[in-house]
Amino acid sequence: MSETIRLGEIAIAVTRKDIKHVHLSVHPPGGRVTLVAPTGTRPEVARAYAVSRLGWIRKQRARLRVQAREPARHYVTRESHYVWGKRYLLSVVEREQKPSVTMDHRRVTLTVRPGSARAKREAVMHEWHKGLLHEEVPRLIRKWEPRLKVKVVAYFLQRMKTRWGGCNHEAKHIRLNTELVKKPRDLLEYVLVHEMAHLIVPTHSERFVALLSKHCPAWPEARAELNELPLAAEDWGVRGGPQEERTKTVPLERPSNTYEAPARQGVKETRRER
Ligand SMILES: [Zn+2]
Repeated sequence: MSETIRLGEIAIAVTRKDIKHVHLSVHPPGGRVTLVAPTGTRPEVARAYAVSRLGWIRKQRARLRVQAREPARHYVTRESHYVWGKRYLLSVVEREQKPSVTMDHRRVTLTVRPGSARAKREAVMHEWHKGLLHEEVPRLIRKWEPRLKVKVVAYFLQRMKTRWGGCNHEAKHIRLNTELVKKPRDLLEYVLVHEMAHLIVPTHSERFVALLSKHCPAWPEARAELNELPLAAEDWGVRGGPQEERTKTVPLERPSNTYEAPARQGVKETRRER
C-alpha cells in the first residue's frame, strides 16, 4: 500500500513503521524523497510535517543535483567548455608567460605556466569568464534601464551555488552568476531583466509577473531553459511564495566551478513528532 504526499513538484513516498520518530530523507542521485512515519501518524500530521520541511527538502535536492550533474573540470586539452551556449574544445598550452585565454570559432586556448595546478587553471578561466560577462552586462543594463525605468547602482559577478542572480532592492545592486557565461546570451539578458524587475517589485507577486510578461514575454521559456539539465533549480516560480525574499531570485541550475564531494548515502534528518 503506497501513500504519497504531493507538495508542488515534489512527491514524497510515505511508509509506516513501528518507530518513534519521523524520518525524512532525500536520496541520491535523483532526489527521491521518502518519509517514514510511526504507524499511528495521521495523514494530515505527516503532511504538515513535510510542509514544514519543504525548504530543507528543496535545499537537499538542489545539492544533490549539483553533485550528480556537475562534471569535474580538469582544464585539460580536449575537454569541452561552454561559452555563450556553444561548445568549445579546450586547448591547454604551457608556456612561461602571463596566463591568458583566447578563443576562436571552435577552440578555447588556455595558456598557463608549465606544471600549473588545476586550481590555477580554473582561476584563470574564471577571470576570463568574468571579463566576457563584463563586456555584455553594462550594455544590457543601459538597454533595460530606460525601458524598466529603474537605475542599477552596481552589479556584481560571482559564483553562486543555487541561484542565477540576485538583487539588493534597497541598494539597487544586482548579482549575476558567472556560470551565465556558459549559457546563450539571451538567458543572461533574461536573468538581468528579472533582477532589474525585482528592483521595482521585490517579490514574485502578480505585479512582478505582469511586469516581466510585458517586457520579456518569453520569460517562461527562458526560465525553463535555465532550469533544465544539467541541473534543475528548485522551483522559483511560485508567485508571492514565502520562499521569495528580497535578495533571492533566480535559483540556478549549476554550481560554482568547485566540485563537491560525492553524495552521501542519503541526507537524513530525524525529528521528533509531537
Ligand atoms: Zn525572482
